[in-house]
Amino acid sequence: MTAKTAPNEIAVLDKYTGESIAQVLESSKEDVERAITRAQQAFASYSKWPAHRRAKVLEAASLLLTQRREELALTLSREAGKAWKYSLIEVDRAAETFKFAAEEAKHLHGETIPLDASTAGEGRLGFYIRTPIGVVAAISPFNFPLNLVAHKVAPALAVGNSVVLKPATTTPLTAINLQNILRESGLPDGALEIVIGGGSTVGAWLVTDPRPAMVTFTGSPGVGTLITKMAGLKKITMELGNNGGVIIEPDSDWESAVDRCVMSAFANSGQICISLQRIYVHDSIAAPFIEKFLKAVSRLKVGNPTDKDCDVGPMISESEAVRAEAWVKEAVEAGAKVLAGGSRRGAVLEPTVIGGVKPDMKVVCDESFAPLVTITTYKDFEDALGQLADTIYGLQAGIYTRNIPKALRAIEKLDFGGVIINDTPIFRVDHMPYGGNKQSGIGREGVRFAAEEMTNLKMVVIRP
Ligand code: NAP
Repeated sequence: MTAKTAPNEIAVLDKYTGESIAQVLESSKEDVERAITRAQQAFASYSKWPAHRRAKVLEAASLLLTQRREELALTLSREAGKAWKYSLIEVDRAAETFKFAAEEAKHLHGETIPLDASTAGEGRLGFYIRTPIGVVAAISPFNFPLNLVAHKVAPALAVGNSVVLKPATTTPLTAINLQNILRESGLPDGALEIVIGGGSTVGAWLVTDPRPAMVTFTGSPGVGTLITKMAGLKKITMELGNNGGVIIEPDSDWESAVDRCVMSAFANSGQICISLQRIYVHDSIAAPFIEKFLKAVSRLKVGNPTDKDCDVGPMISESEAVRAEAWVKEAVEAGAKVLAGGSRRGAVLEPTVIGGVKPDMKVVCDESFAPLVTITTYKDFEDALGQLADTIYGLQAGIYTRNIPKALRAIEKLDFGGVIINDTPIFRVDHMPYGGNKQSGIGREGVRFAAEEMTNLKMVVIRP
């Protein structure tokens, strides 16, 4: 939710109250070109900085993020509608992401290659080194305006790249705060440039400019597909959508899974790429599981995200909440049953639980990105596994079971970037490889893995 004020100004709105909290300048095409030029100029010197110096900047940024935790969390809660406790977690995670990046700056390395494994390579010494790729064009979504920006900016800077970032138009303030923190931490001018404005204009100008060497994008599969077409021969990473699911087997500690499933479905109003959207629960435990689940959902505190005890705030905009509400209605018309929630007030959709769903309903097969979760019961584990796997997405999936062969079978069967045993798909720490298969993306983030994606390999062969 943003509003145009003066021709080149965008008002950033509090997503709960609708009040304007800041004005930002919309970038013109010339602004985007100038930002890329400044980033290119900065790259020429920054890419030559020694690792210890880059690491120091990233460490200092991590410290400042921690020191300004509450101030940053308040901006996050207001511009993204994120409940206070989750905003605090996001700031803490971003501080850790920068810390991991500081370490990565010091550890990035190549390896030797035994060239004499081929007769043609006898007598030669071979090794590769990793070199910074150049200017990285980074485009980020609204749902984690700090930590998902950190996942692009921190590894890029760790390896000596410069970055031009286009944050989501609805949530640019946190990115600007991060840029200020990096400047205070000693990052040279131009090493992180920010451009602001609509995806189809500012985003497209950035992607189609021939100078960035790489595009790193997090967002929806539709926009991701468009960007891969526009980017030409640039290197790309794509972190896209998902319709996260979990299987709950009767042999598991399913009672303690209930609260975790509730959090996984409704944190950040379900607007997390690894939110829990599909629960498959075994028939033999379905009744008590659902009863406990609905009780826990009824205890969620819905309202103003800046309230310290808020669990579920608004969605990013009223139009998104209207879209999600329409998906619920459509499911009900096709025979599904609302077990909790379902109603909407402005941008706030009540935490919604739907039963009696069919695999082809949007609330099951598309990414709902809303505070709604479906519950399906099953009799046979293989059948549940088939349903969990039957999706165009492939980011992360979860299985609750104590049965090792079943866990191993799930790991084998699921074509996902991450398979999480005894937890939901929401589990993530910021140094693990993270990313999706199929429509969920290309490449991996997680600091070391993103850092590697953001370098070129240079092979060196020495003939004495
Ligand atoms: P989105 O609509 O795809 O937007 C993401 C970014 O792309 C925004 O900055 C947007 O600009 C920009 N954009 C839009 N059209 C563009 C174009 N034609 N060219 C260049 N840039 C363009 O996604 P969203 O609604 O912000 O975020 C939700 C999606 O992100 C969900 O699908 C979610 O699963 C996914 N996501 C994935 C991950 C992951 O790690 N896999 C993490 C978080 C979110 P505007 O702001 O102006 O629209």
